Amino acid sequence: MTSLDLQEVITSSIHSNIFQNYDIDVLRTDLIHPVVSGNKWYKLKLHIEEAKKMGKNTIATFGGAYSNHILATAFACKVFGMDSVGIIRGEKPAQLSHTLQAAQQYGMLLHFVSRYVYDDKEGLKKYFNSDCFWVNEGGFSELGMLGAADILKECDNPEKYSHIVCSCGTGTMIAGLLHVAKEHQQVIGISALKSHTGLESDVLKLLPSHQQKQPVIFHNYHFGGYAKHPPELINWMNLLWQEVQIPTDIVYSSKLFFAVKDLIEQQYFKPNDKILIIHCGGLQGNLSLPANTLNF
Ligand SMILES: *Cc1c(COP(=O)(O)O)cnc(C)c1O
Repeated sequence: MTSLDLQEVITSSIHSNIFQNYDIDVLRTDLIHPVVSGNKWYKLKLHIEEAKKMGKNTIATFGGAYSNHILATAFACKVFGMDSVGIIRGEKPAQLSHTLQAAQQYGMLLHFVSRYVYDDKEGLKKYFNSDCFWVNEGGFSELGMLGAADILKECDNPEKYSHIVCSCGTGTMIAGLLHVAKEHQQVIGISALKSHTGLESDVLKLLPSHQQKQPVIFHNYHFGGYAKHPPELINWMNLLWQEVQIPTDIVYSSKLFFAVKDLIEQQYFKPNDKILIIHCGGLQGNLSLPANTLNF
């Protein structure tokens, strides 16, 4: 099996008055690979292993037009010599997004389906059937959760943190973090979606029954909804870059860092708390912005 040539994950410390000079570490999984960013690789790797074990050579999955998961799957399949199929939500647009153009370049076969059909995942699996290994949208499964649990291993002495904060889409990553976090650690998720009411119960579905730790999830940092990026968010991303040189994306990580700043202002954390932010990349999503919107 060839490999992805992953870069080492570094932990950077940020210290700035925008975070009231709290000591905050950032686990930069965004730097592991230029295409397969952050948690997407961790969530995919066991699926790929499993598909290979089962002798399947095609991975099929689901996602939207800007999906980091679709892009990561296309790229990883190319590297591991597998075929990939992407079932894409919504009618085919006249102009494909950067994400989908890139996925296609990596050899992914794209099938566009209406939102209505997209919601019937089981029907779609039967329809496309063939001999694909199916990966759920966003890598949501026990394999995805177990892969995501490895994220914390990238960090030196992860036990020293009192709080681990990450962004949530499907909740697969936070489930993985909860799976390996210690008793004294609080794992906090910042949902990128507006009123994603089933998120907590989805997270619990991925955890073994003896481990039903209630996740702490904040639902009020979506800035208007999934992928919505009003000017306040763009200003925040530029300020964050200027102050601590951390690049963020419009869908997940910008809202994650904003939430930490806001929770600090609300005195959610105590001065002795040791906070770890998991930065999962997703920076390719910024390509959908007009040029020069961001200063990084
Ligand atoms: C996909 C993604 C997430 C969400 O991960 P889930 O496991 O679906 O909750 C968070 N941040 C970034 C940058 C992502 O690409």
